[in-house]
Amino acid sequence: MNSKLYNRLIFELSKDGRRGFMVSECKGCNGAVEANIPASMLRKSTATLPEVDEPTVVRHYTNMSTNNFGVDTGFYPLGSCTMKYNPKINELLASSGIVRDMHPLQPAATAQGALRLYDILQKALCEIGGMAEFTLNPYAGAHGELTGLMVIRAYHAERGDAARTKVIVPDSAHGTNPASAAVAGLEVVEVRSLPDGTIDVDDLRSKLDENVAVVMLTNPNTTGMFERNIPAIAEVVHAAGALLYYDGANLNPMLGVARPGDMGFDVMHINLHKTFSTPHGGGGPGAGPVGVRAGLEKYLPNPRVVKSGTNDFQVVTDSDTALGRISLWLGNYTVLRRALAYILSMGSEGLSQIGPLATLAANYVMESLKDLYELPIPGPCKHEFVFDGLKDKSTGVTTLNIAKRLLDHGFHAPTIYFPLLFHESLMIEPTETESRDTLDAFIDVMKAIATEASCAPEKVKQAPHSTPMAHPDETEAAMHPILTWKDLTS
Ligand SMILES: *Cc1c(COP(=O)(O)O)cnc(C)c1O
Repeated sequence: MNSKLYNRLIFELSKDGRRGFMVSECKGCNGAVEANIPASMLRKSTATLPEVDEPTVVRHYTNMSTNNFGVDTGFYPLGSCTMKYNPKINELLASSGIVRDMHPLQPAATAQGALRLYDILQKALCEIGGMAEFTLNPYAGAHGELTGLMVIRAYHAERGDAARTKVIVPDSAHGTNPASAAVAGLEVVEVRSLPDGTIDVDDLRSKLDENVAVVMLTNPNTTGMFERNIPAIAEVVHAAGALLYYDGANLNPMLGVARPGDMGFDVMHINLHKTFSTPHGGGGPGAGPVGVRAGLEKYLPNPRVVKSGTNDFQVVTDSDTALGRISLWLGNYTVLRRALAYILSMGSEGLSQIGPLATLAANYVMESLKDLYELPIPGPCKHEFVFDGLKDKSTGVTTLNIAKRLLDHGFHAPTIYFPLLFHESLMIEPTETESRDTLDAFIDVMKAIATEASCAPEKVKQAPHSTPMAHPDETEAAMHPILTWKDLTS
């Protein structure tokens, strides 16, 4: 039971003079504690802090924590985000004392075990992606995209091909693709999708010229469709002198089935926090390792882990062919460790079942609901698919209403209004970790919402009816977020 009383802001629970803990005065210290703080750093006035007793603090934060929806509390079919269950053994291994207490500046000689794990993960990702080398330094998928694009810029620059300043991105791409391109100083050119969701290769061909540095693709793309024409696309892209980039955030359905390197991709990133089971959402932490084909290794950023001798790992910080540093240290080490724990515990046999099972789950949900929900791209799909809202549009019930109504039933909403190819996109990715019972329960609720939309549309339009917050002004929240407490009364 979530308590309304303790769910209020902690400042609203404050009462003048109330205390959770009293520090006894230090007799005979002669103000020694204060004397250690330089006068310039001492407070001039009392801090505005909530004055609350300990039970109130505990109840407030415990109640707050239950306002969150996570993959540990329920089904979370958020398309493109791969919200799979994260095995708890990963957490145990990532947070065990010796790893948790390491310092990035400690001498390599005292961190050989940690560096060895780094090396093993690099090699495992090379095997999984079909690449020659990986850097594990980037902190997120978008950060990996930026790093990959910088590698590609460095490659063209070294060949004296400085006029290549354009990047071609499909209209179905994740928003981070054009954003990373802009940050990397490249100009974005959009390529059209065909009605079946795949890339219009003729349109791509017409846009390739001597100014194109790279073509960025996601496969399966964000409509859940597999781009069958990659070998042909790779050929025309390479013939035009450009490189091919693989946005590997959607690697889950490919695991053990196909490798971007074998398809002709030159550079890729992997979202470890999606495919390799690190809890994510709400901004991190994540990891977006970048892999490159043979010939591009030297551009990867510093620092790097290299093996000298049989088993002596060094951290190289001054390789001058590298594009410099894109992170402070060697990446988000605990995320890397979770990914390695996951890869080793699954084994190659387990990993190669993930893609087929994720694909089966998505097709099962899609087939079960396509009579009631508009399916603009007929299947079979890969790990995810997109509905364009309800089939029956006469009720006025929108994708947003359906998403909110799902919350009343204890399911997280799918991704909504993305990809932008359709007006009422509802993008569902069940992942391989859900049981048949969970999928059936979700299907039943989606059917019930479709029926309710016809019989009692207002009930759906006013949803959610059971959450602590119902209809925040999303535009205002994004444009003018209030991130700190303000006393609006004074
Ligand atoms: C999630 C995602 C990204 C971005 O990854 P972040 O870690 O959120 O920066 C890029 N592309 C696709 C297709 C994604 O799903």
